[in-house]
Amino acid sequence: MCDAPAVSREHAPPACLFPEQKDLRVDLRRNLLTVPSCERHNATKCSDDQFLLVSLAGVLGGNAVGLGQGLTKARRTFARGGPALIHAALGSVRRERHALPDGRKLDVAWGTPDFARLDRCFDRIARALYFHEHGSRCEGITHCVYMHTLPGDCNDATFRDFLRHKAALELAAKPYRGANPSVFTYRAADPDAAGRRLYALTFYGHLDVFVVIAPAGLERGNLAADLIDRGIPTTISSGGRAWRFNQTAD
Ligand SMILES: [Zn+2]
Repeated sequence: MCDAPAVSREHAPPACLFPEQKDLRVDLRRNLLTVPSCERHNATKCSDDQFLLVSLAGVLGGNAVGLGQGLTKARRTFARGGPALIHAALGSVRRERHALPDGRKLDVAWGTPDFARLDRCFDRIARALYFHEHGSRCEGITHCVYMHTLPGDCNDATFRDFLRHKAALELAAKPYRGANPSVFTYRAADPDAAGRRLYALTFYGHLDVFVVIAPAGLERGNLAADLIDRGIPTTISSGGRAWRFNQTAD
């Protein structure tokens, strides 16, 4: 994260995402990835780790390990953190009770994550993965897309569909990394012509977060993104498919 001397190592992603044996009775903390950390960055990390835990464990769409972690560790963390932590993770929460086909009931809390804080957490994780692979500090700028959250609008949904297509192409031959794939696994694509690197992170089997690391200074200058941001009708084509942005309804 910075040039200060390392005094300890930190886990990436945070160790609290990985179930303890007392909770799930299997060892899902094998060979956790760690990177060197300075005193300041390690000290500021703890509350973000808790935030990340309650933002991922127990989220609908995750596998049984994720739901289990939600019902044990995240539930204990919520109990300690109280309403402030729930508010931090989901903003203003709406609760709903759903009837399952077998007659059981499922209580669900809906809300909007604190995306700025999620960005900070995933910026740190992506930089750690980069350091782990390259042995040097990442100088780029990160951009995160949370595929497991609901899209904000039509353009957002189209962009995610395009990104999923690009990721499938670029990552097809890349190995899944991480020793506990039911908790966390990731793949890294080769850099594109502009030097952007795509990291596809998967938590609890199905919760996908894409992080693009762009070289510093490149965050501007993407023509397609500029056109889309300005509301101009734009089409991106790839592999015989087309994604249309800012389309007006006929
Ligand atoms: Zn530091």
